[in-house]
Amino acid sequence: IPTVNVIGAGLAGSEAAWQIANMGVNVRIYEMRPTKMTPAHHTEKFAELVCTNSLRANQLSNAAGLLKAEMRQLDSVVMTAAENHAVPAGGALAVDRDTFSQEITDKITSLPNVEVINQEITTLPEGITVVATGPLTAASLAKSIQAFNDEDDLHFFDAAAPILTKDSIDLDKVYLKSRYDRGEAAYLNCPMTEEEFDRFYDALIHAEMAEAHDFENSEVFEGCMPIEVMAQRGRQTMLFGPLKPVGLEDPKTGRQPFAVVQLRQDDASGELFNIVGFQTHLKWGEQKRVFSLIPGLENVEFVRYGVMHRNTFMKSPKLLQPTYQTQQRDDLFFAGQMTGVEGYIESAASGIVAGTNAARLALGLDPVVFPKHTMVGAMAHYITHTNANNFQPMNANFGIVPKLKQRIRDKRERNTALSERALAELADFKAETLTLTKVDQ
Ligand code: FAD
Repeated sequence: IPTVNVIGAGLAGSEAAWQIANMGVNVRIYEMRPTKMTPAHHTEKFAELVCTNSLRANQLSNAAGLLKAEMRQLDSVVMTAAENHAVPAGGALAVDRDTFSQEITDKITSLPNVEVINQEITTLPEGITVVATGPLTAASLAKSIQAFNDEDDLHFFDAAAPILTKDSIDLDKVYLKSRYDRGEAAYLNCPMTEEEFDRFYDALIHAEMAEAHDFENSEVFEGCMPIEVMAQRGRQTMLFGPLKPVGLEDPKTGRQPFAVVQLRQDDASGELFNIVGFQTHLKWGEQKRVFSLIPGLENVEFVRYGVMHRNTFMKSPKLLQPTYQTQQRDDLFFAGQMTGVEGYIESAASGIVAGTNAARLALGLDPVVFPKHTMVGAMAHYITHTNANNFQPMNANFGIVPKLKQRIRDKRERNTALSERALAELADFKAETLTLTKVDQ
């Protein structure tokens, strides 16, 4: 049985290595820390949390809660350590970051079939390999990944507008139309009166920005200006930019509104919409407060807030299969933030799938696609099937999961029902497909 290489012992690499080793396959982990650090890591421990110590919500009525429940079913080393080192955090799961990472490091390194090599990898290795080098992948390896794919298929910066659920948009206030009625009506338009625009503009220019890290200097923002920076250039600037109303007459009045915010469909099923031109560096709470002033978005649900930060991620819809194998090389897998999943637990969960499939390949078994109603399966589907040109990283959220057959009005009840369906499907999948190949610990 061939040894599997895992590059990077972050959230995704740790999970991948754990799954592979527990399936009886030898693992060689290459981790560059402490020999070389990323700009955000401070320790040599596996699965270091580079920012907050919160792994977000824990309830089944929340997509992050469902993802955690699925990870528990899949013997996640991250979830076990998180529960062993939880600190009080209300409905969220937060951890003591040091003991959390220490437990993951100890558990993985004490497995007899795991070898750890503290070395920076600069080219893609031969043989079955999981690349999980994260949002701050070292430059030489990033170059090698660019050479393997097309140069344009690896992004180094994430400038994303918020993504909203269609269900939460007030459809009585917005209208479907494309500018000058060109092509089919494709955008949801939020019309603003002058008074509404002024209130929004005033809130936007006074809103609080998120903190930038030292390694995220402002030069990289040039090509893609945050909406708040555009607003600060003057009251008119947005009206000639993303809020331009020309060609967008409101069918209800027949008149051109003072300003229009456009929402563009973000996923193939039409459940998610992004706010066009609203890449932003505002704090998340501020985004909710300020963008809720846009008519139609008063009670909107954000599945992902806008971000502007350094992030190495691939154009996965063009490059990856839902098994996390590359389209070009069946024995080369990617996992974690690089694949376009966004967040600690999303990265870890993708490592479970990639690791399981890398081990299956080593064992002579076919890699498997996880069920589409589960959050792990839906994320793999999203990053490999959404539009490659506008591809932006995605958090776990219920908008990417197929709808229930029955209609449940109450959101919490609906989400809980989606979670119950996912967990039942995952239990069957595990019994029928996965457990056959696990060795006892
Ligand atoms: P990582 O956990 O970063 O692991 C990658 C590993 O690969 C690292 O250990 C690195 O040393 C190693 N490595 C890199 N290149 C090489 C190489 N060439 N050879 C060998 N080893 C290499 N998500 C949240 O949910 N909440 C947050 O608060 C949050 N804050 C973030 C703050 C910052 C500054 C950044 C950059 C990201 C943040 N994220 C956050 C996003 C993301 O969830 C985390 O970055 C997460 O750690 C990603 O997991 P990963 O396994 O993909 O990468």
